[in-house]
Amino acid sequence: MALLQISEPGQAQAPHQHRLAVGIDLGTTNSLVATVRSGTADTLPDEEGRHLLPSVVRYQQGSVQVGHEAKQTETDDPLNTISSAKRLIGRGIDDIKTLGSRLPYRFVQEHTSVPRIETMAGEVSPVEVSAEILKVLAKRAVSTLGGELSGVVITVPAYFDEAQRQATKDAAKLAGVHVLRLLNEPTAAAVAYGLDKGAEGVHAIYDLGGGTFDISILRLNKGVFEVMATGGDSALGGDDFDRVVAEWIMQQAGIGHDADHAQMKRLMLAGCTAKERLTEAEETLVSVELDGGDKWQGRLQRSKFNELIDPLVKKTLIACRRAMRDAGISADEVQEVVMVGGSTRVPRVREKVGELFATQPLVEIDPDRVVAVGAAIQADILAGNKPDSEMLLLDVIPLSLGIETMGGLSEKLISRNTTIPVARAQEFTTFKDGQTAMAIHVVQGERELVTDCRSLARFELRGIPSMVAGAARIRVTFAVDADGLLNVSAVEQSSGVQSSIEVKPSYGLTDNEIESMLRDSIEHAGEDKQLRSLREQQVEADRVIEALEAALTEDGDRLLDSDERQQVEQALGALKSVARADDQKVIKGAIEQLESVCGFYVERRMNQSIKQAMSGHKVDEFE
Ligand code: ADP
Ligand code: MG
Repeated sequence: MALLQISEPGQAQAPHQHRLAVGIDLGTTNSLVATVRSGTADTLPDEEGRHLLPSVVRYQQGSVQVGHEAKQTETDDPLNTISSAKRLIGRGIDDIKTLGSRLPYRFVQEHTSVPRIETMAGEVSPVEVSAEILKVLAKRAVSTLGGELSGVVITVPAYFDEAQRQATKDAAKLAGVHVLRLLNEPTAAAVAYGLDKGAEGVHAIYDLGGGTFDISILRLNKGVFEVMATGGDSALGGDDFDRVVAEWIMQQAGIGHDADHAQMKRLMLAGCTAKERLTEAEETLVSVELDGGDKWQGRLQRSKFNELIDPLVKKTLIACRRAMRDAGISADEVQEVVMVGGSTRVPRVREKVGELFATQPLVEIDPDRVVAVGAAIQADILAGNKPDSEMLLLDVIPLSLGIETMGGLSEKLISRNTTIPVARAQEFTTFKDGQTAMAIHVVQGERELVTDCRSLARFELRGIPSMVAGAARIRVTFAVDADGLLNVSAVEQSSGVQSSIEVKPSYGLTDNEIESMLRDSIEHAGEDKQLRSLREQQVEADRVIEALEAALTEDGDRLLDSDERQQVEQALGALKSVARADDQKVIKGAIEQLESVCGFYVERRMNQSIKQAMSGHKVDEFE
């Protein structure tokens, strides 16, 4: 009888075996799944031949619908049909309030940091909604490819912060898929075009989707992509094109702004249809059913449409220029411009982007699918199907990361736009004699004062051996992994005591907030610098007071007579009274005054400690 070979659990598969791995573009409007087969990457269609899965989930009692079906009922059942999960994922309840009342959902009002939406099927979180979309795509891949998936690469916007990335990973976990890597959308698009195989240089990725616009400037350097800068507008996309056409119809048809919800929906739909037709045609017939049952019909020329959308297109170009400024490059240094997102099909968009960069944008790969295709190529490599490939993809952190130091100042360990993965360490010390614990406060932002930055996490390092102030050496390390997650650790060097934390902030930042934080830091730069040196002076005053008081307790009685002591205490009192003054010079003057008054005392203490050190030793030991 022939023996059947059974491999050990967990043992690697035979090397020739192709592992199934897919790339998923988890989009705001639409999501896709792609894979590499016989060396070619392509997206996988559903049973009806549709590649795009609308990122819409409808919750009903005992059932969940995902995609086209859910999208169709969105108008009739807006409360149970969630179509904005990507805008909510990894965000806190406060961030969501800033998204305004545009979202029709019923958010659970109780005290939770993570938003939850009430639906007919109970409360759901954005992570759960995203998981439903991932499940459908993973299932599609398994049934098309005929085997279990060894892993997936999921794409996220380059500006996604730690919380948003972590939440995306949580969604994958919930969907039961193994994440090989989160990949930035622009990087995926560049990979799809094989730009990583081409000449070194700078590329721009222009991504105009349904509701968002992202511009990323990438640099290819020794086969590695570095994100030089990102920018965009989280509330600008193809939906706005639909809206300006809808407004044009309202004007033409004499419909007032008091039109009801259903009428507005129909107008938006007509706007969208006209827009998409004008991508091919020079002119299109527009028809909308009016509230009374009448029909309005009109003709829209592409030239008129261009005029309507020009202010919106212009906004994207301004963001492109800003990103180039951030990256420190000019438009003529950009070699290739990759077009991503359904809205880059619009001829006017292609024309204007081409003009800005003075180059023909890359449009050969379907702009809806290009991100998923790039993710699939990366997944194939990470799954081990191409062992010789050494492609490494680098991203940047959007805002500086630092820790709070005395005086409420932020000491930045990793500055913004640093490529990841990255690890940086810096040494800090204790402020007080005998201090055995240290509170470590991790903050994000460009400003000098912690109160102007965003708090990410707090933790404590305990068990520091008791030492005099300034003697302990605490090495704090910030490590950001390839997925953009931050790990902070602190080690006291002499004892080896350590503590660490993985930073999963309960809410993240919108790109608008990031932008405004950056703007603030530039506007307040001068004032911040002054404030910083004032705070540093105040901390110095505290340190001097602390040290002198400790000395007086220890040996003031022995080394000083009462007159001397009075003198010292007077100067100490003078410094204390100005230690919180908001004039740096006054504090500095008081410190200098105190130091000159205390000169003799310091000298006596030094002599005394030399005597103590020498007692019990022979004098010649020190020669
Ligand atoms: P997202 O990245 O937000 O998920 P997509 O990249 O799928 O979005 O883009 C969706 C947008 O692209 C929609 O606004 C849609 O109307 C628009 N779009 C799709 N096809 C065309 C077309 N042929 N002409 C113009 N716009 C289009
Ligand atoms: Mg997209």
